[in-house]
Amino acid sequence: MAHVDAGKTTTTERILYYSGMTSRVGNVDDGSTVTDWMEQEQERGISITAAATTFTWKDHVVNLIDTPGHVDFTMEVERSLRVLDGAIAVFDAVEGVQSQSETVWRQADRYRIPRIAFLNKCDREGADPTRVLDEIRTRLGASPIAIQLPLGLGPEFEGMVDLITMRARTWDAASFGTAFTDGPIPDELAEAASRARDAMLEAIAELDDQLMAAWVGGRELSQQAIRSALRRVTLGNRGVPALVGAAFENLGIHNLLDAVLDYLPSPADFDEVRGRDPRDPTGAPTLVRKLGPGGELADAEPLAALAFKVQIDEAGGTLTFVRVYAGCLRVGDAVLNATKGHLEQIGRLVRMFANHREDIKQIEAGMIGALHDPVPVTAHPSLRSTRLSTGDTLADPRAPILLDAMRVPSPVIGVVIEPETEDDVARVAQALERIAIEDPSFRVTTDPDSGQIVISGMGELHLEIIVERMRREFGIKARVGNLQVAYRETVTRRGEGEHKLMRASSRAGGPRGEYGHVQLVVEPTDRGGGYVYENRASTSEIPQEHAPAVEAGVAEAVERGVLTGRPMIDLRVQVVGGSYHPVDSNNYAFKVAGSRAFVEAAHKAAPTILEPVMALEVVTPDEHVGDVLGDLHARRGKVAGITARPGVQTVACFVPMASMFGYATDLRNRTRGRATYAMELDHYAEVPQQLRDELISARV
Ligand code: GDP
Repeated sequence: MAHVDAGKTTTTERILYYSGMTSRVGNVDDGSTVTDWMEQEQERGISITAAATTFTWKDHVVNLIDTPGHVDFTMEVERSLRVLDGAIAVFDAVEGVQSQSETVWRQADRYRIPRIAFLNKCDREGADPTRVLDEIRTRLGASPIAIQLPLGLGPEFEGMVDLITMRARTWDAASFGTAFTDGPIPDELAEAASRARDAMLEAIAELDDQLMAAWVGGRELSQQAIRSALRRVTLGNRGVPALVGAAFENLGIHNLLDAVLDYLPSPADFDEVRGRDPRDPTGAPTLVRKLGPGGELADAEPLAALAFKVQIDEAGGTLTFVRVYAGCLRVGDAVLNATKGHLEQIGRLVRMFANHREDIKQIEAGMIGALHDPVPVTAHPSLRSTRLSTGDTLADPRAPILLDAMRVPSPVIGVVIEPETEDDVARVAQALERIAIEDPSFRVTTDPDSGQIVISGMGELHLEIIVERMRREFGIKARVGNLQVAYRETVTRRGEGEHKLMRASSRAGGPRGEYGHVQLVVEPTDRGGGYVYENRASTSEIPQEHAPAVEAGVAEAVERGVLTGRPMIDLRVQVVGGSYHPVDSNNYAFKVAGSRAFVEAAHKAAPTILEPVMALEVVTPDEHVGDVLGDLHARRGKVAGITARPGVQTVACFVPMASMFGYATDLRNRTRGRATYAMELDHYAEVPQQLRDELISARV
């Protein structure tokens, strides 16, 4: 994980090359890398979708996901971090900690992922690993521990001293990094290396009592003792081993791979799986399932696996990537989709390598693999979707467990898509549906007034790429309307609603009547609370077989909103009661009753409109800072802080999405292309009164 351009893709390529999975060194600059498989990624030189890849290094199997750095693809980072046990954070040794390094670091903090820092591009003029370590300390609040001392920097960079073995390693540039020499530390560096080693030991000892005891006791520390202590520190998220290198020059990759084995967790380091009991409608208590000692017996445990990515393959089938936490997923199994409540028949399993896939018979605990077109069986006859999708848990039907799904970021920006010909209308809908299956942070809606198709996502780049995919992959030409802000609705106080749909049977022996009755309460959650649904009605009020219909009805109404047709967020809906009729009740009646009860409650709960407010960071040369600030002020921006490096200032600011369209071009013109910026959703805030009125009257 890294900021765009820090060198993740290059590092990934080299990792795959050295671990023998690819026969040639790929190069992002000529578009020949294997993980950036989508054409557009190669053209744009950024990684958009995370490709999960398996390789081996020194008899260990490693699953690798190269995550994109651009904030528009934050969903990819989110789902990768949810299923990975450890991460390599790649930093540019000249640029240091950049805005998106900070974003992905915070995401990894949230999932408590142990990390190694790789200070890449040490061959660049101005490379300064010491400054980057300082920034990791101050900006990321982490404790980096340098375990290497670079040999030369900038164009003279040729290797490093390993501070644990106290040996120097230099690379033979001509051999594409396959040949290197280990030797004694050059005399002129001996003193610096000895000081750096002391600093490293002190840093580890401060974070690890066991090493501290040995260190102050003056005992000779074995390499193994140091590595074990550093492993404990890393796994406990107390410190971050830091390595130097230059991926493009093939320098430092072997050490990086060794460090992955030495310091990052293996599935055997986890002795439990946490989740919830899907049979408990309130879903509150945590279910902790202990695994066998050291994870060894995990294959024999009941299955617990999480689907984290769905891809449509060339043949139009789906490929669903899963991480197995406990048990074993086997071809021929019928496993429970604990999220949706039906069984999935597993027909075909594959393991993905960067450029090919292999059929396998099973995916064991700890591994990542993909399933091909699972077939839903015994799907609940309710109105909910039965498709296996991102965030679903697969479990042993005899021991159901529901694992935490990943956070799906809300879209902030949308655009109207108009097919050029009448024939294209159906194809557009089909194409967009397929893209939405792969990317949960992308949404397709139909404007309730104009009937136009609106696509929304995380930023201008995200939407641009989707429109391009429609053209390229599906051959569809569509006109793209103006960008629009993805406003949301919410409620500001508690409201109650009730609806009884009742139609008696007209005559004996004729068609049945209809009966559904739902009582519910709506209340606001904190900002960022999303949409929470709880069913607290007893089964004597709403029978179990109709509960999913109520949930579907409420969800549809939430999606439609009550003021302007926009989806509602940051609210909790509790179904508190209802009643049924032994003959006339059906799913349809309960669904309608759920929807109408919600609309009534939401109207009583003082609904309002929210707008996305972005966290923006602009890096600008000193001479343009006044101009940049003035412009941000005019855009309703609130400056949160300004930090300076020689010649350059970084402005952090909160600004409504509504005033940020076309900012890329404006900033370029204003600073003659010398400033850069990154922007992501920070929070939603209530819109000013005047805008609220405008949005509501535009609807009527
Ligand atoms: P990503 O966006 O983090 O995946 O970064 P890429 O791997 O696409 O690299 C971005 C740019 O940096 C490309 O032009 C690479 O050739 C270049 N690059 C990557 N690693 C190094 C390195 O070690 N040294 C130098 N000088 N350039 C590098």
